[in-house]
Amino acid sequence: MVTLQRSNRNWLRRALQILDADQMRSGETNLLRLDMPALPGIAVYFKDESTHPTGSLKHRLARSLFTYGLCNGWIGPGTTVIESSSGSTAVSEAYFAHLLGLKFVAVMPRTTSPEKIAAIRLYGGDCHFVDDPTTVYEVSATLARELHGHYMDQFTFAERATDWRRANIAEAMFAQLANEEHRIPRWIVCSAGTGGTATTVGRHIRYKSYETRLCLADPEASVFHRHCVDPKVTSVKGASLIEGIGRPRVEPSFLPQEIDLVVPVEDAASVAAARVLSRHLGKSCGGSTGTNFWAVVKLAREMHAAGESGSIVTLLCDSGERYRSTYYDDAWVRDHGLDLAPYEAELESCFAHASVAPANRQAVAAE
Ligand SMILES: *Cc1c(COP(=O)(O)O)cnc(C)c1O
Repeated sequence: MVTLQRSNRNWLRRALQILDADQMRSGETNLLRLDMPALPGIAVYFKDESTHPTGSLKHRLARSLFTYGLCNGWIGPGTTVIESSSGSTAVSEAYFAHLLGLKFVAVMPRTTSPEKIAAIRLYGGDCHFVDDPTTVYEVSATLARELHGHYMDQFTFAERATDWRRANIAEAMFAQLANEEHRIPRWIVCSAGTGGTATTVGRHIRYKSYETRLCLADPEASVFHRHCVDPKVTSVKGASLIEGIGRPRVEPSFLPQEIDLVVPVEDAASVAAARVLSRHLGKSCGGSTGTNFWAVVKLAREMHAAGESGSIVTLLCDSGERYRSTYYDDAWVRDHGLDLAPYEAELESCFAHASVAPANRQAVAAE
């Protein structure tokens, strides 16, 4: 007989209790409703992920990844956790590492917003910067070996650390629509960074046999939407300005077969949409929420033109407060060559009153 070295069970039990306690304190996030006067009969809902303790949808992912790492025996007392992250995931993981008393190092592009870097440091996390964003994976893996730590690897494990059957964001969305006029949305719109959220939502829709279809809102410069159309395309050069979403390589957690429709979105459209939405929702939204909203409006217009009514659900991924010095700074927008005006005008028209639904037009004309 050989007794194998096992992780410290008492520590593990306590660690899992700490994660559970955080979930208890947090509760479910709000589903905010938006009505656009020019598109009557179409209700749009935003799952407001900005209200998590760490301010984004990555709070869910980080909790799942820590739970997975603990239960796999990859994380124990004294394990340094390393992650490749453009910011939001690192903020949430730094928070959980701090709760568990573990060291945390984020490997990120040097261009990451100062607000996010400050948030990681607030939770006691270290930042390791790289000049070439494509090297974050190998740098993280190397650092993990050198520090005898654990490379969390969100891009690989997002898809399997989250339970797509129950107790996930998709189940919550459907539950929160229970008393709405259109309880089963026509569309759920997701953007993809790891692809984990889209994959969880897509799997849950199939698991429950809902009629809902899944739309991917993806930055024009990203590989995901190209890969959905042509599976041979697995990487692209160049990068989008929208933090958290759009990738130069197809991530393992992104499953194209879950996607029913892709909408490529220009960066200027995303930024304009974030600004317009923030005004009308009365909540400041980040860039990826703008990307989502641009696709939502496209779908809502199509439904309206076809005389249909129904609901569309998407995510408010994080708050615009994190992007005061970027998307909400006119000088930054100008320096990056973005012309928001045409996109803003197009979006604002959705909020103009006195439009008559096509289905009612004849009736009005006949009066
Ligand atoms: C990560 C992220 C997304 C996309 O979520 P995934 O589940 O990783 O695909 C969208 N918006 C923001 C701000 C993010 O950080």
